[in-house]
Amino acid sequence: MYYPFFDTTFLILVPAVILSLWAQISIKSTFQKYSRVSAHGGLTASTLARKLLDGYGLQNIPVERVGGNLTDHYDPARKVLRLSDSVYGSNSIAAIGVAAHETGHAVQDLKGYAPLRIRNAVVPVVGIGSTLSMPLFFIGLLMRSPFMMNLGIIFFLGVLSFHLVTLPVELDASARALRMLGTTNSLTTSELRGARKVLRAAAMTYVAATLMALLQLVRLLVLRGAVGGRDD
Ligand SMILES: [Zn+2]
Repeated sequence: MYYPFFDTTFLILVPAVILSLWAQISIKSTFQKYSRVSAHGGLTASTLARKLLDGYGLQNIPVERVGGNLTDHYDPARKVLRLSDSVYGSNSIAAIGVAAHETGHAVQDLKGYAPLRIRNAVVPVVGIGSTLSMPLFFIGLLMRSPFMMNLGIIFFLGVLSFHLVTLPVELDASARALRMLGTTNSLTTSELRGARKVLRAAAMTYVAATLMALLQLVRLLVLRGAVGGRDD
């Protein structure tokens, strides 16, 4: 029998929970700090994104404004770069860093960067995986059905693979961002250091999410091992 209230395997997740809390605090405070520092060039993030995109011949990609906080993203399906309210019209180092990062994703798309293509391909499957994996697994655990638990684990592997492929996509977009900001002289050397801090803090949230998924898999395997082999 499985007693959910005595399930101590959730303790396996503790390092990931701590890391993601720390990453959340870190991105908020770093972003806030560099949101108050204007870049010397005076261009707003949206103007700069436009300029950087044009530099790559990506005049066809519009730069749009989107509501919310830290909702900035490049949409590879619609080929649109969207910057959030606090970034779009700002000329802060943080906003410039974010705009260049999203431009980095557009450039990945242009160059056919493999991890991005893999990520786009797994996205539709991941939705199903993240909805079904946990219910399948824990119902399987309650019913002592190794088959259902295995099915839950297989769906969860889809979720984990998404996190594993997201990590290089994000790190590469930030590396491209810092390179293009440097080569176009959009930021000075000391401003670049600030932008790097913002992008590193953002990357930590992806590292934390990946660690969480990895440890969650370990936890599922531990629980699965406790149930044993056959359906009964
Ligand atoms: Zn990104």
